[in-house]
Amino acid sequence: MTERVRSKHTEANPLTVAILGAGGFIGSHMVEHLLEAARYAIVGIDVSSEKLEGISGPAFTFHQADVRRAPELLDEVIRSADVVVDLIAYANPSIYVTDPLEVFELNFVQNLEIAKRCIAHRKRLIQYSSAEVYGKTAEGTAYIEDTTDGVLGPVHKQRWIYAAGKILLERVLYAHGAAGNLDFTIIRPFNFIGSRIDYLVPANAIGGPRVFPHFISALLTGGPLRLVDGGYVRRAFMHIADANRAFQTVLDQPALTRNQIFNVGNPENDLTIREVARLMMELYEELTGKRPTSELVEISGEQFYGSGYEDSSRLPPDVSKLRSLGWAPQHDVRATFRDAMRYYLCTSTESAASKDGRGSLGRPSDPLRIEGALINSGLGQD
Ligand code: UDP
Repeated sequence: MTERVRSKHTEANPLTVAILGAGGFIGSHMVEHLLEAARYAIVGIDVSSEKLEGISGPAFTFHQADVRRAPELLDEVIRSADVVVDLIAYANPSIYVTDPLEVFELNFVQNLEIAKRCIAHRKRLIQYSSAEVYGKTAEGTAYIEDTTDGVLGPVHKQRWIYAAGKILLERVLYAHGAAGNLDFTIIRPFNFIGSRIDYLVPANAIGGPRVFPHFISALLTGGPLRLVDGGYVRRAFMHIADANRAFQTVLDQPALTRNQIFNVGNPENDLTIREVARLMMELYEELTGKRPTSELVEISGEQFYGSGYEDSSRLPPDVSKLRSLGWAPQHDVRATFRDAMRYYLCTSTESAASKDGRGSLGRPSDPLRIEGALINSGLGQD
C-alpha cells in the first residue's frame, strides 16, 4: 500500500531522524527499514549494539551510550536532528514489580528530559508509549485513542507503574502541544513480534522477557510453555514489518499526525495466550518437521513475575485513525508468528531461510545463546 503523502526527502536531501533506543527490538528494525527507504539520515543511540550487528550504511551513525550518563551527546543528537524518535523504556513486567522506581526513572524522568530538550531545540518528537495505557479497561469492543478511558489496578499492584508513567508522559506531551510548545506524535504499540525480540531464556525460567521469547525458548529447549493464570487473557499481535510501515506513515505525514495519538496494532490477530501457545506448537512442527516435546503448564502470575503483578485481558486496538492515513496491517496471525519463529529456528534446523541463515529475515541470533549480553535489555515497548 502506498502512503497518501510521499516524503519530499531523497537520498541527496535526507530527513535526519534521531532514534533514541535504536539498539532495541523496535529500534533495530526501524533503522533497517529506514536505511532501505534510502531517504533518511539516521542517528541512533543505545546502551547496546548487539541487535544492530550487520545493520549499517553511510546513512546510519550509531553512538553506543547510556543517555542518562551522556547528556551532552543526547543534546547534540537532538539539536542536529529534524525528528526525534523516543523508544527508550523498560518493557518487561518482571522489572515493573521488582524495580518500580527504576521503571519510573527511565520511562518517565528520562523521557521527560528528552521531551524538554525537544522543546528547547524546537524538534518534532515521535514518542513511543504503550497499549498498556488502556490498563484493565474492558468496555466496548476495541480501544480507541481519543475516547477510551484507562483503568489501572490499585497502587500495591506495582505492575501498573509502567502504565502510570506512560500515561503521565502522554499527558505532559499533550499539555505542551496544546500550549504550542511542542510538535509531537504518540504511538501506542500493541504486542509487536519479530526477530530480535528481547532475549532467549533457559528452560523453566520465570519472569523476564515477553511471552513470545519465553515460548520460543521453551520450544527450542523442550521446556514447558508456561501459561500465566491459565493463559486466558487476550492480546493482539502484530508483525514487526507492519509496525515499521506504520511508523513511516507517521514520520512522513507530520501535518496530519501533529499532536495526535495513534494505536499501532493488528486487531485481526487477537488471541488468548493459550491460543498463542497452541499456534506456536503447531508452527514449530510445520517449520522443523518435528513434534514439539514441550508441554503446556499453568502458573500463577505472582509465582511467575513476583508479588505486585496483576494481569488483564486487552481489547484489540481500533486502528481506523492510522488506516485513514493510508496504512493497513498486511500479515495475518500465522504469517506473523511463522516469520518470527523462523528466525529463531533457522539456525538450529535446515528447514528455513537461506543456508547462511539470513534470507529475508535478517540475522538470526544463535538460538542456543541464552541469557547473554541482551539480558540487560529489558528495554522496548509493548
Ligand atoms: N505470559 C505467559 N507466559 C509467559 C510469558 C507471559 O502466559 O511465559 C503472559 C503474560 O502474563 C501476559 C501475556 O502473556 O498475560 C502477554 O505478556 P507480555 O509480557 O508478552 O506482554 P504484555 O503483558 O505487556 O502485553
